Amino acid sequence: MISVEEALARLLAPLEAVPPEQVSLADAVGRVLAEDVAARRTQPPFAVSAMDGYAVRAEDVAKVPATLRIVAEIPAGAGFGGRLGAGEAARIFTGAPLPDGADAIVIQEDTERHGDEVEVREGAPRGRYVRRAGLDFAEGDVLLRTGRRLTPRDVGLAAAMNRPWLFVYRRPRVAILSTGDEIVMPGDPIGPHQIVSSNALALCAFVTASGGVPVLVGNAPDDPDALRRIAAAARGVDLFVTTGGVSVGEHDLVRDVLSEEGLAIDFWSIAMRPGKPLMFGQYRGTPMVGLPGNPVSTLVCSLVFLKPALDRLSGLPAGTEAPATARLGTALKQNDRRQDYLRARLTRGADGVVEAVPFDVQDSSMMRPLAASDCLVVRPPHAPALPAGSPVPIIPFPGGAWPL
Ligand code: AMP
Ligand code: MG
Repeated sequence: MISVEEALARLLAPLEAVPPEQVSLADAVGRVLAEDVAARRTQPPFAVSAMDGYAVRAEDVAKVPATLRIVAEIPAGAGFGGRLGAGEAARIFTGAPLPDGADAIVIQEDTERHGDEVEVREGAPRGRYVRRAGLDFAEGDVLLRTGRRLTPRDVGLAAAMNRPWLFVYRRPRVAILSTGDEIVMPGDPIGPHQIVSSNALALCAFVTASGGVPVLVGNAPDDPDALRRIAAAARGVDLFVTTGGVSVGEHDLVRDVLSEEGLAIDFWSIAMRPGKPLMFGQYRGTPMVGLPGNPVSTLVCSLVFLKPALDRLSGLPAGTEAPATARLGTALKQNDRRQDYLRARLTRGADGVVEAVPFDVQDSSMMRPLAASDCLVVRPPHAPALPAGSPVPIIPFPGGAWPL
């Protein structure tokens, strides 16, 4: 058995970012930038009015009331070829370019119009309600950098930078193969001694939610020939993931059978619970993770190992997530030599502090408490008994019911 830290380091070591591709900005949300992005345009490109009102020379409205002659009307998208002289104003609207000669905006609410003249009742110092050229950014400024997963806000920024196309890392493709004579896909005909596969679809969802593309290879029965044949279909992917069949029973074929088929195993046992029988290696040149069959083990191992692996393949920088802690809502016993990941709820204590409350039952076959969990409480090997109220490290489920 090796430690979780060592397993993770060995699993990540051979992985590198997949090659980039160019995508339209309309398809870019959630993708990871593979280039530094420089603005192709200054924003705003010229000084603009931030209000509906009148463009004036500040010195002309230093004393109020002041009456100015209206010499132009400038809506957004239009310009004024001339120059504002002494005693002159231009009717102007939000987003319209400030005319030459003007240096302030008087808002409409502080004026009264009489035909070609406007009476200004409140003065405006220089620069009032004027957005200068380049206030937001200038052409050539690098505002988004390689390795960033693009948010809707980033997409808006890139659009303002006049970048309709971006280079992003291709989505990592992940082949998913479940194993076991007892496994049937949801909705398929099912025999009296069989169970429905939760792992295959849960893994597909996990890969999709992590920015990858799942490729469902199928289910291999516990038969060497079938396993060989179906595993051979896992080609042209960036990662090959199997579930089940990696433990020590006679029907756990994945290690032995695929070893004859070009699988080079790096490790296959980790000091953790759930998830001890987890295998990592290279299958015909493709990195391969053999996850344990129990549904909870599969998903906990996905969070602990598959997520960092997908992040690495996706071009994300390592270790950007801050470690999280919570206060224990109940006491915990001393831990043994395996790192424990307890399924837990997050609630608020009477004082408003976030508390983690592990479920009483921690059976690695039970999907219901897993789905109801907000986080995993991490118990390092040999961690001492802890009273309620102690701080503990947690891994929040992304998108979980985080009560903050
Ligand atoms: P194994 O590692 O193949 O011995 O599987 C361990 C346990 O997980 C067994 O009880 C299996 O029935 C169960 N299991 C294996 N694969 C799946 C799956 N795809 N969906 C749900 N349970 C599974
Ligand atoms: Mg099995």
